[in-house]
Amino acid sequence: HPGLPVVPPTRRLSRAPGPLRARIGKEITASGRDQWIHPARSMRSRPGGRLLVVQNLRREFGGVVAVDDVSFSVPEGSIVGLIGPNGAGKSTVIGMIAGAILPTSGSIQLDRAEISGLSPDQIARRGLIRTFQLSAEFPRLTVMQNLLAAAPDHPGETLIGMALGKRRWGAYEAAMVESARELLERFKMADKEDVYAGELSGGQRRLLEVMRALMARPRLLLLDEPTAGVHPSMIGELESQLAALRDEGLTMVMVEHELGIVGRLCEVVVVMSRGRVIAEGAMAEVRTHEDVREAYFAG
Ligand code: ADP
Ligand code: MG
Repeated sequence: HPGLPVVPPTRRLSRAPGPLRARIGKEITASGRDQWIHPARSMRSRPGGRLLVVQNLRREFGGVVAVDDVSFSVPEGSIVGLIGPNGAGKSTVIGMIAGAILPTSGSIQLDRAEISGLSPDQIARRGLIRTFQLSAEFPRLTVMQNLLAAAPDHPGETLIGMALGKRRWGAYEAAMVESARELLERFKMADKEDVYAGELSGGQRRLLEVMRALMARPRLLLLDEPTAGVHPSMIGELESQLAALRDEGLTMVMVEHELGIVGRLCEVVVVMSRGRVIAEGAMAEVRTHEDVREAYFAG
């Protein structure tokens, strides 16, 4: 990443100059509660409206049907949990929503626009951001460089960019450094700014991955097993950070094995087994389904 801005070693970059600050306003500099969420949300928020609608999704790998006629929807402002035994098709569903895996058939709509068939980049630019089951940070870049590398790189196509104009790259970068530092403080990792990502613990890498996703100010965040590889002592911190983001209105889809976390974070749970949705509802509700108990809770 030769084009990465060099971050001054000073702890606190001076704030953006007054006029610029006024122009970009609270979009990126204020510590307003929903600052990490895509501006489209606050512009035409329909709480409870369906932000993502997945219909009759199917994916075959050779002769294997990995995902078979999966339909569910994600209300704006909530976390939907996607659970089920290994091999159920959860990661394949996440991959299709993110555009990394092409569906064999079916439809995926983000805010009523069809997104299946778009590239992962195009989908990310619409505010749909994912994290991976295995962390995907750059180990030989510092934490700060990782965060800056995750900032939207086409400011002309974002609201922030429109406010800044194309000749404001220096200011844009400064604002992104400031955003990154606010995230680091929020996630209690301010002292890790100059540490190489490869030197972080599993839990810290997870937090970094969530912070990287937030740098893009997502409208919808897809999390594939966020607690995988996280030391038990850090799982509580991760969970409370996700709960806070949900309370600020961020919409998420979360694949997660730890059912206690799913029960606490997710209003709606979609249970998959062998490629199909076998139950959908509140955790307390789906737990009682006979098929679910057999497929998932037995043993
Ligand atoms: P989960 O995330 O629920 O554990 P996956 O979506 O990873 O399940 O996998 C669902 C099924 O699809 C499994 O049987 C898996 O072996 C198969 N599968 C996933 N990805 C591929 C692939 N790239 N090629 C062939 N089979 C795959
Ligand atoms: Mg998986």
